[in-house]
Amino acid sequence: MTQRASISTYGLYINGAWSPSSDAATETLYNPANGEPVAIVARATQADTDRAIAAARHSFHLGSWSNVDGAERARVLSAIADLLEEHVDQLSVLETLNGGATVRKTSLLDIPVGIDHLRYFAELAREHPRKNLPYIDFPLPSANAMWREPIGVCGQIIPWNYPFLMAIWKIGPALAAGNSVVLKPASLTPLTALRMAELIDEAGLLPPGVLNVLTGAGSVVGERLIEHPDIDKVAFTGSTEVGRHIAEVAGRNLKRVTLELGGKSPVVVLPDADLDITVDGAIWAAFMHSGQSCEAGTRLLLPSSLHDEFVERLVNRVEQLVIGDPHDLTTDIGPLVSAAQKRTVEEYIKLGLAEGATLRCGGIGGIDDPELANGHFVRPTVFTDVKNSMRIAQEEIFGPVLCVIKYEHISEAINIANDTSYGLAASVWSRDLIEAQEIARRIRAGTVWINDHHLINARAPFGGYKDSGIGRELGPNALDAYTEVKHIHTDLSQKREGRIWVDIVAPQLDESFAEFSNM
Ligand code: NAP
Ligand code: MG
Repeated sequence: MTQRASISTYGLYINGAWSPSSDAATETLYNPANGEPVAIVARATQADTDRAIAAARHSFHLGSWSNVDGAERARVLSAIADLLEEHVDQLSVLETLNGGATVRKTSLLDIPVGIDHLRYFAELAREHPRKNLPYIDFPLPSANAMWREPIGVCGQIIPWNYPFLMAIWKIGPALAAGNSVVLKPASLTPLTALRMAELIDEAGLLPPGVLNVLTGAGSVVGERLIEHPDIDKVAFTGSTEVGRHIAEVAGRNLKRVTLELGGKSPVVVLPDADLDITVDGAIWAAFMHSGQSCEAGTRLLLPSSLHDEFVERLVNRVEQLVIGDPHDLTTDIGPLVSAAQKRTVEEYIKLGLAEGATLRCGGIGGIDDPELANGHFVRPTVFTDVKNSMRIAQEEIFGPVLCVIKYEHISEAINIANDTSYGLAASVWSRDLIEAQEIARRIRAGTVWINDHHLINARAPFGGYKDSGIGRELGPNALDAYTEVKHIHTDLSQKREGRIWVDIVAPQLDESFAEFSNM
C-alpha cells in the first residue's frame, strides 16, 4: 500500500480514443501530502468539449447503447465492476496520491464502496421496467404502458472530495438507463476517473462515444457542458455557488438538472446518549477526510448537562489523532486537497477566533514534522462557545473544523439544527430510538442518521433539502433522474365503431347521430 505510482500522463477520452487537447495544453497535478508532481493531464478546450458532446450524441443516435436491452447493459456494468475490483489496490493508491484521502479510507471505503454502488446500478439496469398500467376497457379496450427511456446526452460535473465515488454516482445510473455521457472530473483530482476510463477502454466494454471523460477547467469545459444544446441533462456535485449558476443556465434551456451541493450538517446529541459511541461518532462525523465531505457533521449540538464532559473527552481524543502521510496505514488525518483549500480553512479558523468562539484544540500551524512541511495539513480543530449565527456555524468550511454549540432544551436543538440554509444531512444520538426518530422527522435534511453518520448506502436515496440541492441520487429510483417517462396507449378494439370521441370532429352518420341532427 505504501508504493507510489510513477508520474503518468493522460489525454482526453473522446469517442473511444485518447487524444491531446486541441491546443496541446496540459496541467501538472501535485501530491497534496508533499507537493511532488504525480501526473500530467490534458486541459480540454471548448472545441474538445464540442467534439465529445458530438461523439456522445452520435452514439446515442446509433443506439448501440441507448437501444440495447437492460439486461445487456447490466451485464456490461457488472463486467466494469469486476474489472475495477481487480484494480482496487491500484485505484486506492491513486486516489490517495491525487486527493490526499488516507489509504485507510480509499481502500476500505471510496473504491470498494464505489464498486458496490456500480453493481447496484447494474441491478437497476436489469430491473428498470417497461411497466404495464391497468388495462382500460372504456369506452373501448386499450393497453397502456409506461416506458422509461434514456434522456439522451448527460453532462456530468464532479468535485474533488470523492473523485472515484462521484464518478460512479454519475456514470453508473446514467449508463444503466442507456444515456451517453460526458464526464468532467474536478481539475484537482481526475486520476481515478481517467484510470477507470482507461480500463474500460482497454477491455472494449462500451461502444465508442458512450462514455467520454474530459479534464479541463470548470470555466471552459463545465460552462460548455451546461449551455450546449446537445446536452439533455446536467448532473452536478459541488459548491452551492456553482450549483446555483448551473440551475440558472440549465433552466433557461430547460435542461434536466440534478444538483448535489453543500451542507452544514448538525450532529444532535441528546442528554441520554451513550458517550462511548457518540464521542467517537462525532469525530468520525466531523473529521473523516479532514472534514472535506458535503455531509460532514460540522455543528455539534450538545446539551448543557453533557457539554463539559463531552468536550473534554472529545478534545483528548482529537489531540491524539495521527496527522501524516495518507499512504501510511497508521495515519488518521491526511492533508487537505490543495494549498488554496488550506488557506480557506485557515481563514475560517481566524474568523472563528474573531467571532468570539473558543479554540479548544487544533488551529493554525503546529505541525512540526519536516516530512509534512510541503503538504496541505491542518490540525483537527474544535471550537466551543459557538453561536449558530456565527459565520463559522453557517458557512461550509470544507476542512477539519468542528463547531460545538450548547443547547438547553431539545426544541432549541431542533431549531438550531434547522437554522441553516443547507439541508443535506444530520445525525441524532440517543439511547431512546423512538425519540431520536421523532427528532429525525423534524429535521429538514435529506438524510438523518441515528447513532451514526456518513453511512451512504446505494439502496437509499441521497440528496438535499433547501440550498443543498435538487433531486436525489442512489436509492430504488436512482435511474428516474436519467430517464424520460413515456406513456404508450395501444388501441385493442381495432374497429371504427364506438369511437365516440372521434365523432366530435369526424362524425359517423349513424342513426343516433342522425336523430340528434334532426332535433
Ligand atoms: P466547485 O467550484 O463547485 O467545483 C465543482 C466542479 O464544478 C468541478 O469539476 C469544477 O471544475 C466545476 N466547475 C467550477 N466552475 C464551474 C462552472 N462555472 N460551470 C461548470 N462547472 C464548474 O467547487 P470547488 O471550487 O472545487 O470547491 C469550493 C467549495 O465548494 C468547497 O470549499 C466546498 O465548500 C464546496 N464543495 C462541495 C462539495 C460537495 O460535495 N457538495 C464538493 C466540493 C466542494 P474545476 O475543478 O475545473 O474548477
Ligand atoms: Mg470553484
